[in-house]
Amino acid sequence: MTDSDHPVTDRPADRDVPADRAFVCDDCGHRWYYDRRRCPACGHGAESAATVRLETGAVVATTTVETTPPDVRAPNHLALVRFDEVQLIAQAADGDLSPGDRVRFDGSHRLREGRDRTDPRLVAVDDS
Ligand SMILES: [Zn+2]
Repeated sequence: MTDSDHPVTDRPADRDVPADRAFVCDDCGHRWYYDRRRCPACGHGAESAATVRLETGAVVATTTVETTPPDVRAPNHLALVRFDEVQLIAQAADGDLSPGDRVRFDGSHRLREGRDRTDPRLVAVDDS
């Protein structure tokens, strides 16, 4: 195998998808979050990969960033969350999440000032 066989495998494809979406390999069905050129499981090209909405996940860890870039909220509450096989880091709506909490994406927020696009943030799921 030469480099020319897979010239762009390490670069993201830069598709602009909502924060609550994961990619799905159209060959093996594997799911992943951060955009890729190829399926991390089977290597199939990801250009045509569909996206699916992430439903309910479980918080693995949380952190709060107090010092942020000028166009990002401060404090910035973040959570590492596992949605089945997909694990990601995303903005939480507030600082009240704890490991083990069930969460979903909700709302419409501008993640960076100056961006037109809005995305949902993580909120706790009320299990009652
Ligand atoms: Zn695959």
